[in-house]
Amino acid sequence: MARTLGPVCKRCRREGAKLFLKGTRCDSQSCPFEKVGSNKKPLPPGMHGFKRGKMTEYGEQLREKQKVKTYYGVLEAQFRRYYEAAERAKGNTGQVLMSYLERRLDNVVYRLGFAVSRAQARQLIAHGHICVNGRRLDVASYQTRPGDTISVKVYKREGAKTKRPGSRAIVDFALENLGARKVPDFLVRNEGDVPSGTVLRTPLFDDVSLPVNPQLIVELCSK
Ligand code: SF4
Repeated sequence: MARTLGPVCKRCRREGAKLFLKGTRCDSQSCPFEKVGSNKKPLPPGMHGFKRGKMTEYGEQLREKQKVKTYYGVLEAQFRRYYEAAERAKGNTGQVLMSYLERRLDNVVYRLGFAVSRAQARQLIAHGHICVNGRRLDVASYQTRPGDTISVKVYKREGAKTKRPGSRAIVDFALENLGARKVPDFLVRNEGDVPSGTVLRTPLFDDVSLPVNPQLIVELCSK
């Protein structure tokens, strides 16, 4: 599973938006965006971050694309595939693209509140802690469909040699630390002993919680 390593908060500062990449830290006062106050943004990274001039049209389009890729944890090649699929599909390309990203299994696990970040959701999936319709699925990019039930596979850890927390402890911690996060309208969290949720419908552009202008991404990718 390819992923981007390196400083994380820097990536939010580069995009000038909170991308919620660090779990519980994002809702705390340690977040650089909270430190500077609600109506100010922290400076972009780099020693010349404070003296950047007006951005070009290309720059704005590129930043919008990079922001979305970082937010969903998708690399360039995969993002291109989503774009090509959105271009072939009916409807507004930018909005369909956002819908594809929102339907990813890692995003759905995160938005149900079973993980503190999309990166943690990806790890839960890759390590076999997530089931879709009762069957274990370790593909984070799986496109969820209306009616899919996502549940947590609870392993029994009695007698385990390591002291690592089981999936249940990780998910319980995430559910206790939801902060201001709410389950979006296209999902519902089910009541019951085992944490689970259901996809009610295909996500729409309005369900995307990131402020984004997908038209800029379409202008860039269609060149
Ligand atoms: Fe860092 Fe999270 Fe704040 Fe982004 S939102 S700057 S990842 S703490």
